[in-house]
Order: sequence, then structure tokens, then C-alpha cells
Amino acid sequence: MDTREELTKKIIKLKKKREAIILAHYYQLPEIQDVADFIGDSFDLSRKAARSRAKVIVFCGVKFMAESASILSPDKIVLLPEKFSNCPLAEMADIESLKSMKKRYPKASVVSYVNSTAEIKAESDVCCTSSNALKIVEKIDNDQIIFLPDKNLGDYVSKSADKEVIIWNGYCPAHHSITAEEVENIKKTYPNAEILVHPECKPEVVDLADYVGSTTQILNYAKNSKADTLIIGTEEGILYPLKKENPDKTFYILNPFLICPDMKKINLEKIYHSLKNMETIIEVPKNIRMKAKRALDRMLELSD
Ligand code: SF4
Repeated sequence: MDTREELTKKIIKLKKKREAIILAHYYQLPEIQDVADFIGDSFDLSRKAARSRAKVIVFCGVKFMAESASILSPDKIVLLPEKFSNCPLAEMADIESLKSMKKRYPKASVVSYVNSTAEIKAESDVCCTSSNALKIVEKIDNDQIIFLPDKNLGDYVSKSADKEVIIWNGYCPAHHSITAEEVENIKKTYPNAEILVHPECKPEVVDLADYVGSTTQILNYAKNSKADTLIIGTEEGILYPLKKENPDKTFYILNPFLICPDMKKINLEKIYHSLKNMETIIEVPKNIRMKAKRALDRMLELSD
């Protein structure tokens, strides 16, 4: 069996041969983040991929992220090294239920979080990320919004936006696992620490936090924070870049369940085989791709 160093060398060699780039989400394993050309939030990575000259994109994340990369780069081959890396949150929104909700609220605009399938994006008026969700809901020219699939992000947005927000009943199992009691207990243990959480956490957890933001926003906040100790309420993979960028600070994760099993399905071996066998190719059918791209483009227009 190859060592980590040997596998990394083989991947780099094959990557050059295939004219490929490797993208890794912050929630990926450290060795995957180390071999990646770019590390980031899901939509950010897709935009980087679209700007690159690479012919092949190896997306180390979950399926909806590879789909977004394919939507923005239809001329490139997008590979997902583990074909069963799905996002349980994205799977909580199905097209038939969305169509019937649209019939129930025919005047509403549909805002879908990027953590959704390509089909759901295609059925939406506009997409949003966790960092621009509030801006998008505020700027869209409609007072009635169907927001999906994350109910916690929907709740977070609805509290600040002066609009009727009809919220889908989905959630991310990892972020949703944090309880207010856990936050209160950890505050007692580390009274001088700051608590930074993702808006996919429950409303009562968000209420107790010192800062609420996307993974990139949490990384930026941590860099500028004056606190020595920071408690993190998002997937534990973020600890790797946090510790690397802030060696003088101490980080703790809010609870032991902040691990996304789907994000951890990819390893170096799978990246190597993905590049070697050119699998699994993620392609979005043209009719869905065009409509989904419209919703993503609209997000970029509104978030400017
Ligand atoms: Fe989906 Fe949650 Fe995993 Fe992100 S952490 S991929 S939202 S299940």
C-alpha cells in the first residue's frame, strides 16, 4: 500500500497529465485539503473552477457541489471521487413537493440555498449562499418567499427580513445536532471564549453565539478576533485551516457530532482512482443546467 506521500506524488503527476485541478471543501480531511489547488466554500470553489483553464475538475465535496461546478463549467469534466457523497440536507427537498408548494403559494418567489440539487435550483427563481441569504431575500422584488431546504437558515433570514418567508422543513444533521444546553455549558467552562456558529444551527444556538457566519466568514472572523479561545459550531474539518492560520489561538468544536459522514467519504486513494479512471463524472442535463444557471446568475446579480 502507498504511503500518504507516495499517493500525493502520484496524484500530482496524474493531475498534470489530465490538466486537472483539485478543489476541496473546508470540511474535507486534512490530507485532502493539503493536496488541493483551492480550498473554500462550495459556491466559491465552483466559481474558481469556472475561471480556471483546467480541463478536469476533481471536486472533493458532496454531489450538489460537483453539480454546481458542472453547471458553471459545462465545457469541463467534473469528477466526484466518491459517487455516494451526498448531502442529506440537499436530499430533503424533492421536486414534487416543491412543485406542490409553488401551487399553494403561486405568487411567492422561490429562493434555494446552494445546498440543494440541480433540479431544485432549476425550479427556483434565485439561489443563495449562507453568507448572502439575507441580502438575496431582501433584494428580491417580492414580499412572499419560499425558502428551502434549510429551516434554520430560513429562520435566521426571516427574523431580519421584513417579508413573509415560507420555510421548508430541512436541516443539516451535523449543524442541527448542537443544543442550547451544550452552548451554555461550554460558556461556563470557557467564559472568555467566543462562540462562532454557522446559520445552519438551531435558532436557540444562533441566539447564544457571539458570531454567526458561513465557513469563510468564520475563518475571517477568527483571524481578526482578539479572543485567545474560540468555540466553533460548524463541521470539524474547519479546525484544520483555523489552526493553521491562527497558531497562537485555541479552538474547540462545540460538540462531537459536528462531523459530516458524507464529507469524510473521500480519501487520497479515491482521488487517485478518480483521476486514473476518470470517474465519477457529474453532468447536469442541459435543460436543467440552463434553468439552474439562471437561478445562480440571478444570485450573483442581486448580491453585488
Ligand atoms: Fe450537507 Fe451538512 Fe454535510 Fe454540509 S455538513 S454537506 S450541509 S450534511
